[in-house]
Amino acid sequence: MTICPKCEAEVGDPFKTWAISRRSSKPGGTPTVFGMYACPECGKRFRARVRSGRKEEVSIKGVTRKIKGIEVELMSTLKNLREKLKTLETERANLLLEIGELKKMAEAKATALESEIGMLREEVESLKQLLGVNELET
Ligand SMILES: [Zn+2]
Repeated sequence: MTICPKCEAEVGDPFKTWAISRRSSKPGGTPTVFGMYACPECGKRFRARVRSGRKEEVSIKGVTRKIKGIEVELMSTLKNLREKLKTLETERANLLLEIGELKKMAEAKATALESEIGMLREEVESLKQLLGVNELET
């Protein structure tokens, strides 16, 4: 962690980095990386050495890995959503089918009741005729 020289707050990654290779002191050595930092607390901008010559590479790898992770997460979220939508659509279709069948059943029952009522009416009529009850009384 890099510390702000003014307020000692922890500062994240530098917004700008540059490498200085020390060819004179270490041939083939890893270049020293400096970074320009901006403190999130007090806004101070300062230069500081990035921990090691490899730090930037490592952090880029880390970021790439993180992005990959986010991508994988997003893909699985999308996949899950798609599967959920599919399940919901199937459920909806099944419910509509069930509603259709229930409607048919209700209609069949209504028809059966209607014909039963018709038969009962006929029975009432024939009983009335049998007992000689005047139609006008009812
Ligand atoms: Zn600060």
